[in-house]
Amino acid sequence: MTAQLIDGNALSRQLRTEVAARAAALKTQGITPGLAVILVGDNPASQVYVRNKVKACEEAGFYSVLEKYDASLSETELLARVEALNNDPAIHGILVQLPLPQHIDDHKVIEAISPLKDVDGFHVASAGALMVGEVGFKACTPYGCMKMLESIGMKDLRGKHAVVIGRSNIVGKPMAMMLLAANATVTVTHSGTADLAHHTRQADIVVAAVGKRNVLTADMLKPGAVVIDVGMNRNDEGKLCGDVDFDGCKEVASHITPVPGGVGPMTITMLLVNTMEAAERAAGA
Ligand code: NAP
Repeated sequence: MTAQLIDGNALSRQLRTEVAARAAALKTQGITPGLAVILVGDNPASQVYVRNKVKACEEAGFYSVLEKYDASLSETELLARVEALNNDPAIHGILVQLPLPQHIDDHKVIEAISPLKDVDGFHVASAGALMVGEVGFKACTPYGCMKMLESIGMKDLRGKHAVVIGRSNIVGKPMAMMLLAANATVTVTHSGTADLAHHTRQADIVVAAVGKRNVLTADMLKPGAVVIDVGMNRNDEGKLCGDVDFDGCKEVASHITPVPGGVGPMTITMLLVNTMEAAERAAGA
């Protein structure tokens, strides 16, 4: 079997076109969706991420502000900036790029963001809303994975067994909650799991979110499984690769996401979707 690719770039283009149309419609009411991105320090990867996010906003017709601060910015100063953005009516979404410098408490800063503007979906209120099935903002990366499943006709996952590898607060745990909400039977695995392959071999859907190459290999898959690769790693040649042995797994899976061009672009797309949603909610739409 050669798996069909789930193309994150193509799906992103389609979703971003829809968002741009919604933004244009909201503008007729005098409201432009606005995203503020805060970057503290000069982490090279973070600089690329925030640039891509701001660019995507501009392409969708959003108003966006990039606030860059020196790594010496104090926690108090950062909290004051977040508070000012919470009170700024032109801003509907606030994103503080992680990781923050060591002297700043990530959790404290995320919790300072108004849940109404928490478009990254990392606030405890957003995690809680997901847990109990209330309206909130879904974490962008797992939200994007769900959209990828939907794009291949897997919206209601009743009767399907999904195995998530990884249990971080930003990917693994919200991923498990979203799969559960879609009626999948969910197994969450992590570094303490004995015999990972025993679990993945039973899965109709495997989501790998670990940050290690070759966590999932072809012998660990049930034929016809759907594979979503969240991982971002570098191979021996320095090229971007995922957690999944793509060449091996594509011969066993029915559908698979590539890295690059899979989950990565979808994460930014879902940030736009969440910001759009925040602006529409603020407008009472
Ligand atoms: P993380 O916070 O480091 O979490 C990694 C998880 O993997 C942990 O739960 C860990 O278990 C588990 N794990 C480690 N080794 C394992 C093993 N051998 N078998 C099973 N589970 C194992 O990472 P993250 O933030 O969730 O990110 C995961 C990956 O996704 C990274 O490569 C990251 O760069 C990537 N990512 C990509 C996007 C995107 O847009 N494409 C977005 C976010 C993250 P313990 O909990 O027991 O330690």
